[in-house]
Amino acid sequence: MSTVPDCIFCKIVRKEIPANEVLRDEHVVAFRDLNPQAPTHVLVVPTTHAQHLSEFARNTTDQGAARLLAAAAELGARFGPGGYRVVINEGEDAGQSVHHLHAHVLAGRKLSWPPG
Ligand code: 5GP
Ligand code: ZN
Repeated sequence: MSTVPDCIFCKIVRKEIPANEVLRDEHVVAFRDLNPQAPTHVLVVPTTHAQHLSEFARNTTDQGAARLLAAAAELGARFGPGGYRVVINEGEDAGQSVHHLHAHVLAGRKLSWPPG
């Protein structure tokens, strides 16, 4: 695990700031979003800091990459029996606001398409 001192999600990984956690293992931590956009809105973050998906894809192991996706699917199955959506925002156009890769898992209501 390699984290960055001032990154907010690294601080959650290190348990330096509180989060409403729903899953934690060697590769990922998942916790409820502070500003939920659906009845269930959780964020899945790798325990090793990567700014965004591109950086993660360049540096992670196959196991780390697989675990991120599998954790999102587990949480989707747990919280969204009727269906769920997994979203990763990268960069300004997508509105990424926290620069530690995170997958949003949204569930609990009908989700419209296309997203805004
Ligand atoms: P992004 O726009 O980067 O894809 O998503 C960042 C998400 O992180 C937002 O949905 C925002 O509500 C959430 N967020 C930002 N800071 C915190 C925090 O300190 N704790 C938690 N649980 N969520 C946060
Ligand atoms: Zn970080």
